[in-house]
Amino acid sequence: MREFLKSSKLDNVSYDVRGPVLDEADRMIEEGINILKLNTGNPATFGFDAPNEIVRDLIMNVRESEGYSDSRGIFSARKAIEQYCQLKGFPNVGINDIYTGNGVSELITMSMQGLLDNGDEVLIPMPDYPLWTASVSLAGGTPIHYVCDEQAEWNPDLADIRKKVTPRTKAIVIINPNNPTGALYPREILEGIAQIAREFNLIIYADEIYDRLVMDGLEHIPMATIAPDLFVVSFNGLSKSHRVAGFRCGWMVLSGEKRHVQGYIEGLNMLASMRLCSNVLSQQIIQTALGGHQSSDELLLPGGRIYEQREFITNALNDIPGITAVKPKAAFYIFPKIDVKKFNIKNDEQFVLDFLHEHKILMVHGGGFNWNQPDHFRVVYLPKVDELEKMTTSMAEFLSTYKQR
Ligand code: PLP
Repeated sequence: MREFLKSSKLDNVSYDVRGPVLDEADRMIEEGINILKLNTGNPATFGFDAPNEIVRDLIMNVRESEGYSDSRGIFSARKAIEQYCQLKGFPNVGINDIYTGNGVSELITMSMQGLLDNGDEVLIPMPDYPLWTASVSLAGGTPIHYVCDEQAEWNPDLADIRKKVTPRTKAIVIINPNNPTGALYPREILEGIAQIAREFNLIIYADEIYDRLVMDGLEHIPMATIAPDLFVVSFNGLSKSHRVAGFRCGWMVLSGEKRHVQGYIEGLNMLASMRLCSNVLSQQIIQTALGGHQSSDELLLPGGRIYEQREFITNALNDIPGITAVKPKAAFYIFPKIDVKKFNIKNDEQFVLDFLHEHKILMVHGGGFNWNQPDHFRVVYLPKVDELEKMTTSMAEFLSTYKQR
């Protein structure tokens, strides 16, 4: 019989956040084993409800949303995004510079498909949100990882970025606030990145989906505002800030200088048309979501769930001998370091698998975020403190005897 293999386009693509460790957890669940899943940033599954007004908007607009929309998105949604960008100081953004998508995910893939020829290079943070690396590879490009420095609060290492630029580099990606580290980049780092992009004529892609989930009174500085003379593509959406990851609602904004990217924009328009439009019903909630009261604000203040869970997880992890963790400033992830010598860890995937088998708790190994050493794992701290406590006490117990074979 003729055998069908996956296409060779997928040869260099990996997406381990939902990879073999999750498969093993799912197999255990099928056996009836209860697993605490700390592997995806999916607020709804941890009891974070979407704001009522959002759900109401959705219900009210079902009839209105039966047909396809403009391939970039409905007017009210794009107008609301345009105004959001105005308030945040994005330069040179009109309504036709905005594209809605079925989540940011769709737009990340689209933006890379439209840009890359085989062998073109894109600078991507390490660790990263792995869809960026996967999308570059899928589009035929070569992801080149630059280091984010744990010793410097996980900020991008500008010298490393500079070292990795080659004549084939077309773009640089930043994820700010960051998944998986929870870092929030200060102005001087963003300016340093803009300077490199300016010198080497790079497009900047700024994934800012966590921009409304910042703690400690800190301010998120949009990349677009730092570099009005450059072409910046910014990504945002409602999956995290409005706890509606399942609605698949994201957008992409083209800002700054655009004269030299008209050909690329033509390509983006074609790709946007090819998928007809993004889910129209979920576009209907954007106007309500972006205007007025932001219900996520309360979660991020002292006494709020995300804030308190961050305090707990940071302290509890740092109390475990052999683990250190930089305190996150934003989002809801922490990326602790583990002392590999002490536990003889050579394979981080094996480490999270061993923990899964012994304690029925699922996390993602650092390699899932393209981290190149076996010494990190990511915890999603969305569960309530009692569940997080279960994770940290289990980890302490596990490590008290663990030696990888
Ligand atoms: N970008 C980052 C940094 C993320 O962490 C995620 C989801 O976890 C996404 C993009 C994808 O979000 P969406 O649900 O909008 O596709």
